[in-house]
Amino acid sequence: MKRRHFIARNCGLLASVPLIGLQPLQLDFMNTEIHKCNIGEFQCTIFKDLMFTYKAKDYFINAPEQELKQALDSYKIDPENIASPYIAMLLQKGNQKILIDSGIGFSQEPIEFKGNSFVLKGRLQQLLDKEHIATNDITDVIITHFHPDHIGGLFSSDGTLLFKNATFHMHQKEWDFWHSSKSDSQPPLFKFFVDNNITPLKKENVQLIAQDYHEICEGVVAVNAEGHTAGQIALIIGDKDERLLYISDAFLHPFHMEKLDWQTSFDFDHANAKKTRNKLLHLAHTERMMINAFHFNFPGLGFAEKSGANWKWVYHG
Ligand SMILES: [Zn+2]
Repeated sequence: MKRRHFIARNCGLLASVPLIGLQPLQLDFMNTEIHKCNIGEFQCTIFKDLMFTYKAKDYFINAPEQELKQALDSYKIDPENIASPYIAMLLQKGNQKILIDSGIGFSQEPIEFKGNSFVLKGRLQQLLDKEHIATNDITDVIITHFHPDHIGGLFSSDGTLLFKNATFHMHQKEWDFWHSSKSDSQPPLFKFFVDNNITPLKKENVQLIAQDYHEICEGVVAVNAEGHTAGQIALIIGDKDERLLYISDAFLHPFHMEKLDWQTSFDFDHANAKKTRNKLLHLAHTERMMINAFHFNFPGLGFAEKSGANWKWVYHG
């Protein structure tokens, strides 16, 4: 992967926004829905399952008001409408087809939940079809954590498992948390998604990860990344010459990388979330890895650049 220094090439454009290194607008990136690259021996395809929007008051719950306003203004970000993709990543090598996270899911008919109905509009299935990837050929599914945007695409809305021949990998702590009373304080809709998409996997081939830096298969290593949820994992993908760090939701927005103390309402444990942010940034830096961030501008690829004690996100592309 060739590293491109966006800031060096566009220093004039960014001169007025010294704090944050992300590219102000990524419209061309936002409009594509499939991105392909190679990581070591893997052919990698990143699918845009859905675009969603979040509010700044949920994303940055403790950010100083003026500092946040300045950062949002600098990038022309509407605090009521922060665009965020949901993605899924496919890794292919020989007969191996490894899917990482599964998007929000798709339903023809509205789903009823506590008096409300909603329709799921995830595009992953259609995009896999477009790429001629049969769900039955997926050999492994890695679930980084059990939030709806990562697990909703495992079953069709009639309850049929979509990846019949796969081995499912996830962290033991995540499994135990959601299947115990510890998860009772979680949003009921999140529990509903777990009940429908994770619990039925009991009958399938599930491999629970118990150790940090656990090798799921050759070229894919799970790294403990708890905080966002009780047992989230990040992934090191590739070989020693070329590796990518898949950080899932350890950072929801580039601002979280540059302001490690800015918390989001979606994190389960803020102290652990900050520890994980530091751990992953240092890991990527020491090992010179490119990063993929699930909720950053599609396809979410870039680098965390270190400057003294601070980090700056730079999109690759
Ligand atoms: Zn997410």
